[in-house]
Amino acid sequence: MRRTILMAVSALMMFGGTAEAAKKQPKAVQPDSVETRALAVFEANGHFVRYDFKRHPVGDHDIEMDILYAGICHSDLHHVFADWGKETFPMVPGHEIVGRVVRVGKDVTRFKVGDYAGIGCMIGSCRECDACKAGHEQYCTAEGSAVMTYHGIDRFNGNEPTQGGYSDKYVVAEDFAIQVPADAEIEKVAPLMCAGITTFSPLMQAGVRAGMKVGVAGFGGLGHMGVQYAVSMGADVTVFDITEDKRELALRMGATRYVNVTNPDDIKGLDDTFDVILSTIPASYDMKMYLRMLKYDGQLAIVGLPATRNQTSLTVGNIVMAGQHKRIFGSQIGGIRETQQMLDYSVQHHIYPLVEVIQPEGTAIDRAYQNVQDGKVHFRYVIDMQQIDNK
Ligand code: NDP
Ligand code: ZN
Repeated sequence: MRRTILMAVSALMMFGGTAEAAKKQPKAVQPDSVETRALAVFEANGHFVRYDFKRHPVGDHDIEMDILYAGICHSDLHHVFADWGKETFPMVPGHEIVGRVVRVGKDVTRFKVGDYAGIGCMIGSCRECDACKAGHEQYCTAEGSAVMTYHGIDRFNGNEPTQGGYSDKYVVAEDFAIQVPADAEIEKVAPLMCAGITTFSPLMQAGVRAGMKVGVAGFGGLGHMGVQYAVSMGADVTVFDITEDKRELALRMGATRYVNVTNPDDIKGLDDTFDVILSTIPASYDMKMYLRMLKYDGQLAIVGLPATRNQTSLTVGNIVMAGQHKRIFGSQIGGIRETQQMLDYSVQHHIYPLVEVIQPEGTAIDRAYQNVQDGKVHFRYVIDMQQIDNK
């Protein structure tokens, strides 16, 4: 089914939204807007259909990309199924994007036509608040937050509702695009834009280095990137997941231990063991168990974001008892500078996700979503977006 719709408003942000932004009305579509073919969901049912819309014209500081590949992140599922609250439809998900630059605005300096470029979870921020100045645009405080790649309102472009990377084109300010070297394994780059940076950033923040004992909980799209980064930093890595299926793969990826948390014998004797534990778990789980596993001065970094109905809780007492020497911190993706650093590091160290390329045909995406839900993806689906009209 193909539909052409001028979009009304879309609001909720990935990590909280701005009611103010949601009230703003988008500007009318301009004649030089960029025609975009996409896959969208029209309600929270995981069923994708063809959908055409227009993106804002290429401004002086913008680049236009032909999207080559878009990754399917578990956050896309959380949005599509409205796991985190109300969403606005139609929705074109996708915040793991890599493509080729096909047009540049007259003031663009970092890209030329033909270059590869990447886009992650955000496409704009105020550039002036303390967070932006520190290179942490994802924590921009102006008007509520940064502008997210989809399910956002682009206040810098006429309050256009943003739509994501399950599409053939994107127009983005060059300072929110990542430079991708020509020798990168291009079909594997898209997931680095979210799964890569979301695990690289907290591991760097925690100061992971050779000899440290690091746990990675949840061995999926994010987790298998976290394992590769931690191994590359010289850490002794333990993987936690809920299945036997991934044991061998984790060890092959360089982990020294695999813990199936559904098996009580696997967990025995692990208290006070880890310098750092990175949790990527998307479901409810026993966070206290991981706190107990931290050593004195250990750090628990949390990036997994369960659905609102499946919250994982720590009591105030748990936090106080952890004391000053067990640090718990959350982490959202990473800033633009850090994302560039992660990409360069990944290409240099040949750290890529394991991907399965799928075609942008309605039921293929529906099935892929079901497989992610059921834990049947090893480890990231990427959609070959240039094939969007060849089906
Ligand atoms: P995946 O579905 O690819 O991976 C999740 C993994 O966790 C799977 O291997 C799953 O096992 C495993 N798992 C599920 N329950 C448990 C449990 N109780 N204990 C241990 N392992 C478990 O998801 P992603 O890696 O794409 O995303 C993970 C989470 O991170 C999501 O909630 C997502 O929204 C969030 N996220 C957060 C970001 C941030 O900036 N903070 C950015 C991007 C994503 P199985 O496959 O067997 O089900
Ligand atoms: Zn993501």
